[in-house]
Amino acid sequence: MAAPSVTRASGVDDPALTAPTPTSALTERIERLAGQARHSGIDAMVIGPGADLWYFVGHSVSSHERLTCLVAGADGTARLLVPALERPGWSGTPAEDLGLEIITWRDGHDPYSVVAALVPGAAVLGVDDHLPAVHTLGLQAAVPGSDMALAGPAIAELRMRKDDAEVAALTAVGAAIDRVHERMPEWLRAGRTERGVAADIAAGMVEEGHAKADFVIVGSGPNGASPHHAASDRTIQVGDSVVVDIGGPSPAGYFSDCTRSYVVGTPSDPELGVVHQVVRKARAAGVAAAVAGASCESVDAASRTVITDAGYGEFFITRTGHGIGLEVHEHPYMVSGNSRILEPGMAFSVEPGIYLPGRFGVRIEDIVVVGTDGRPQVLNNAATELVQMHGVQDGGMV
Ligand code: ZN
Ligand code: ZN
Ligand code: ZN
Repeated sequence: MAAPSVTRASGVDDPALTAPTPTSALTERIERLAGQARHSGIDAMVIGPGADLWYFVGHSVSSHERLTCLVAGADGTARLLVPALERPGWSGTPAEDLGLEIITWRDGHDPYSVVAALVPGAAVLGVDDHLPAVHTLGLQAAVPGSDMALAGPAIAELRMRKDDAEVAALTAVGAAIDRVHERMPEWLRAGRTERGVAADIAAGMVEEGHAKADFVIVGSGPNGASPHHAASDRTIQVGDSVVVDIGGPSPAGYFSDCTRSYVVGTPSDPELGVVHQVVRKARAAGVAAAVAGASCESVDAASRTVITDAGYGEFFITRTGHGIGLEVHEHPYMVSGNSRILEPGMAFSVEPGIYLPGRFGVRIEDIVVVGTDGRPQVLNNAATELVQMHGVQDGGMV
């Protein structure tokens, strides 16, 4: 194989990779959050750092043990509470452009009593799914008589329906991860360790427009049979199949997540070709089922039926997919028992796999968004065939 020719797609400069969420969209999200709070019987939402905060105010920080939170009432009021020492970090962020009141608290004072004063008479406080227990219990003590509820389901109702700008952001980062997979021949060879290959892939992800690599799975040979294997010191052998599952956020916060399965030289396991074909068909069936009006569990069933009919059902040990956006795993989940109906704007993975313990694994994963026409739009377009890498170690080209 000749050295890969790498054309730097103009997509590296795709403005959708970096575009901040417009202030008007953030304002609308906070208004809709108030509606969700009323609908859920929650008097005030308390949302700490993370993807939820980013979704509503266009920025987040990690503030460790100090409390940072958005306090959003069912009446539509919204304030941001931040530690005084971190206030400068919020300057120039979309949170300021929103005209949101930013309240500070100082070390030595009790931030929970500040929140309590902002939500007088609140009987039910909703906290986001990831608010640390230390803050949740602190709030509960400061607002006597209040019940705590999870705000996650109400927030998910908003986040799982992506607007056009979000779909554009996911499309751009999907194209970026495609370019990384297309460059795999630069890195994936016999004689290298999984860890060494993973480090190069991570650098390639940044070169192609990601803010960082969030995860790099390089599962060679038997390691491919463990779906969440990371990357080890195992040396990749001639004949190995290699599962490469990679993803990370764009500078604007939207995630890519794409898996391809490769083979180094001629497969050492004669069953690899057959298994790969079954997974390819399962991926195609899952994508085809992802139409508006279908249920999430029907997408899972579409992929699973192909694998079960081929006799590999017991080796498809995961759900078929997960929602994706500002988090790599979010609602909706393509899993048996989830009867939620797909709507335009929902974005998720279709990632069937077959995992043969002690031998190898094959997974093919693409991100799909339900289009405004109700049809599945596939955001990843790297080849799904079993792509063959160099079959010999450095020095000799085949
Ligand atoms: Zn996963
Ligand atoms: Zn995934
Ligand atoms: Zn993945």
